[in-house]
Amino acid sequence: AKADGRNRFRYFDSSLDATARRRNLIEQELALAVSLGTLDLSFQPLIDAQSGTVVCAEALLRWNHTRLGPISPAEFIPIAEETGLITSIGAWVLREAIRISKDWPDHVRVAVNLSSRQFLSPGLVPMVENALKANAMRPGRLELEVTESLLMNSTPGVEHTLKTLGKLGVRIALDDFGTGFSSLSYLRRFRFDKLKIDQSFISDMETNDDGRAIVESVIRLAKDLRMSVAAEGVETQSQLTMLRQLGCCEIQGYLVAKPMSAEAFTAFLATNDAD
Ligand code: C2E
Ligand code: CA
Ligand code: CA
Ligand code: CA
Repeated sequence: AKADGRNRFRYFDSSLDATARRRNLIEQELALAVSLGTLDLSFQPLIDAQSGTVVCAEALLRWNHTRLGPISPAEFIPIAEETGLITSIGAWVLREAIRISKDWPDHVRVAVNLSSRQFLSPGLVPMVENALKANAMRPGRLELEVTESLLMNSTPGVEHTLKTLGKLGVRIALDDFGTGFSSLSYLRRFRFDKLKIDQSFISDMETNDDGRAIVESVIRLAKDLRMSVAAEGVETQSQLTMLRQLGCCEIQGYLVAKPMSAEAFTAFLATNDAD
């Protein structure tokens, strides 16, 4: 029994080791990728639920490492947040997303994800202003996606930054809605332009009545508070049909298209216009 325990301990210990090693490796390689400029952006369309017209594209980070292969932002963003690398990555994403999208039709917005740490940094507002100005981009074409975790830091800073960005005319979307901080009071306190219903609710929608009821209530909540509402992770035609009936405004998911290169998105826009 003793030997067994020791083995188990050793096993646990070495798996921790592997996790720590992977983390360190990613941390080092990420710093290198940032300085070499080998990160990429992909774009995933959001369509108007009723007309099918593309109204927005979400910029999503891609990192294809020469040795390690593609590494998911779900893995490297948290590491970038911990190490502070998020500041330079975030600045690059914002500038690059605006630079690429400035040539899209005026009715097509670009959505950029902001981590909480990035949002709380004092440099954010001037950075957004400068990036818009440098590219002569209309502020209303930029949408910033923030998550509920940000609102747990109910510092006056968050409120002030949200207000300042709102005054600039930049749109703010609340991402992964329903998965985080569960108090709804912040919806009254802060002005959001859009709620994005997390894909976990969308995939539950057809499998049980409660799932459908939740999506229905979120859509109604958004409308009552005069916000737009988008569904994330829409994968089937029947989900789309249901969301249309419920009055959801925008649709994003593999059913419409997977995230794609900037060039592919331009081509996608051209075919979308044609029909
Ligand atoms: P997110 O902001 O919730 O982005 C949506 C994720 O869902 C993306 O994963 C997208 O590829 C995926 N997705 C879209 N449609 C479908 C679908 O129909 N089915 C399924 N199963 N998945 C779908 P991705 O690109 O791996 O990004 C993961 C997360 O990494 C993002 O979640 C976001 O939190 C973060 N992230 C990505 N890019 C950035 C960035 O530039 N800055 C920051 N701060 N975070 C980012
Ligand atoms: Ca997002
Ligand atoms: Ca999301
Ligand atoms: Ca998510």
